[in-house]
Amino acid sequence: MVQQLSDAVGELAGVGPARQKALAELGINTVADLLTYYPFRYDDLQVKDVNEIADQEKVTLKGTVASEPVLARFGRKKSRLNFRLLIDHDVYMVTFFNQPYLMKQIETGQPIAVYGRWDAKRSSISGMKIINPNNKEAAFGSIYPASKSIKQPTIRKLIKQAYDEYGDAIVNIVPPTLMAKYRLLSRRQMIHDMHFPASQDASTAARRSATYEEFLLFQMQMQQLKQTDATTDGIAIHYDNDRLKAFIKTLPFELTKAQKRVVNEICLDLKSGKHMNRLLQGDVGSGKTIVAAIVMYAAITAGYQAALMAPTEILAEQHANNLAQVFADTDVNVALLTGSTKPAARKTLLAALAKGDINLLIGTHALIQDGVDYANLGLVITDEQHRFGVNQRAAFRQKGGQPDALAMTATPIPRTLAITAYGEMDVSEIDELPAGRQPIQTTWVRSNQANSALQFVRKQLASGSQAYVVTPLIEESETLDVKNAEALSANLQEYFAPDYTVGLLHGRMKPEEKEAVMADFKANKTQLLVSTTVIEVGVDVKNATIMMIYNADRFGLAQLHQLRGRVGRGSKASYCILVADPKNQQGIERMQIMTETTNGFVLAQKDLELRGSGEVLGVKQSGMPSFKVGDPIADLNVLQVAQQDAHALVQQPDWQSQPDNVALAQYLKQKLAAIGTLD
Ligand code: ADP
Ligand code: MG
Repeated sequence: MVQQLSDAVGELAGVGPARQKALAELGINTVADLLTYYPFRYDDLQVKDVNEIADQEKVTLKGTVASEPVLARFGRKKSRLNFRLLIDHDVYMVTFFNQPYLMKQIETGQPIAVYGRWDAKRSSISGMKIINPNNKEAAFGSIYPASKSIKQPTIRKLIKQAYDEYGDAIVNIVPPTLMAKYRLLSRRQMIHDMHFPASQDASTAARRSATYEEFLLFQMQMQQLKQTDATTDGIAIHYDNDRLKAFIKTLPFELTKAQKRVVNEICLDLKSGKHMNRLLQGDVGSGKTIVAAIVMYAAITAGYQAALMAPTEILAEQHANNLAQVFADTDVNVALLTGSTKPAARKTLLAALAKGDINLLIGTHALIQDGVDYANLGLVITDEQHRFGVNQRAAFRQKGGQPDALAMTATPIPRTLAITAYGEMDVSEIDELPAGRQPIQTTWVRSNQANSALQFVRKQLASGSQAYVVTPLIEESETLDVKNAEALSANLQEYFAPDYTVGLLHGRMKPEEKEAVMADFKANKTQLLVSTTVIEVGVDVKNATIMMIYNADRFGLAQLHQLRGRVGRGSKASYCILVADPKNQQGIERMQIMTETTNGFVLAQKDLELRGSGEVLGVKQSGMPSFKVGDPIADLNVLQVAQQDAHALVQQPDWQSQPDNVALAQYLKQKLAAIGTLD
């Protein structure tokens, strides 16, 4: 049989059902998925010159073991291993924490290479691993996102195996003229060098090719959608203006000027026969949900169904509860569909949906799965748009009809960038917050001051408020992260007992568990909620006025801004406490700017300045469509070039059947076919 990249990973020797399932959890189903499961970081294993390294830099040093290693143990699990390393004529101290088993690899007088963090003040290195000093080929150790059930080395080994077995099947997707124009690597070389670069230059070159490929494929999908938009009729949604006005009057608050303006912009699109493809931007807390409710109501008065898709079950759940209330006095029939809807309930729901008895369906990705059929879908809204892949709009198209599409995002990105990154959408902006909001006061403390911060939290709780405590994902293994969060919540529970109760929320919980935890917090049964970043988007509990973030320097500014936006949603004064010990000037500046402004736009700008281009490996800019390799901000020029190229390509009549484009057309077709089965 011919080997194809679309083969299931199960075809690989050593991948049985259990491993296949573990891979699927990481989004790896086919050999192609595995080959494009790129490392998020490379450890520089190239030996460096001591005189050229900066303080706290991670480096590999090579020398000779100059002293007998000394092992000191503390308790059962902790230990410290010391020895002296001779490089040229200087001696440096090497320390390994909690890796006593390395003892036997360290022999006086023998050459050794050590990878670790350099401490300039002490002229010492805090070791992370020992490397074979004669190792020539692996100058860069690729580090992959791993999970509890599948570990780093296994992933690396499988990728190597897949590459060895399927390398011949990797063909170029980008048309040859474009490959030549930008001097891109062949796809095979690119994939090789993404995983196993021989040098920094090789990895940079591979990344450059991969970025272009990724952006071109993205822009091709956008161009195809645009063509469909142009060649098929949209629906003119003739909504009932009187009912709409009456509905707005029933809301418990007056809309802000900005909300009114964007409602009008969207309604104009609805009425017109052209396809709406609009982005609604508005900072956290600016009130996007109610705008969504109003325009969905408009579509419903015209006899259409509306769908609202959220990136997480928690958020979908919350929207469903909120909107059920908002529509309580109307005849709108609201339903919720997620991955954890029980089969029987799902069946009833789908039947009602197909008959048109459900007017508004809220949910997660479940909304676009196979078997979910709408009677007459008129309007589709995605919340926190950046959390979705690029395909969900196409997937809704496959649900029949030509629904208008609105994408909501809190990202304060410049308009030009938004248009490029989201594929030439129209943009509406909510540029003011509802009246009466008190600005959130942000302070930054070092971790040795966390205790006084907790005393402050206690005072706030005493006044009846609630608090979020967030701990970031810091390990490469989810299990360890969960352990961190568990330890923190146990710690805090001890600290606040018996006065207050602490809840815990993390990514590995079952949906029902998460739901129960959120419900308890909403009902004030728990006063503190410790969480990994699952609460980042959308959660709305007005009584929560404190956001305390541990290891805050691990987050990007955009993400911190999102997290902070979880408080300050009512009229009470709110506080954000950042606990962080940044290791460099950039980190210090990032913490400072957070304390100085609550303006998301300023923060995004600053983020960009501080990050610069380059050094962005794997950093996902919250608020942009998520790409595997490319960074739409740092690589904006590539994104724009790819947009022009895609545009030019689809202008050519019959572009799909030209020999140069066959591979590309084929790839896009497969991609589209795969959407219906998305999780
Ligand atoms: P986001 O834009 O971040 O999604 P939400 O839609 O969750 O914001 O709104 C934040 C909070 O502000 C909600 O509790 C909502 O009820 C409230 N809100 C929205 N619009 C207004 C308004 N015009 N006046 C007062 N409160 C509002
Ligand atoms: Mg929201």
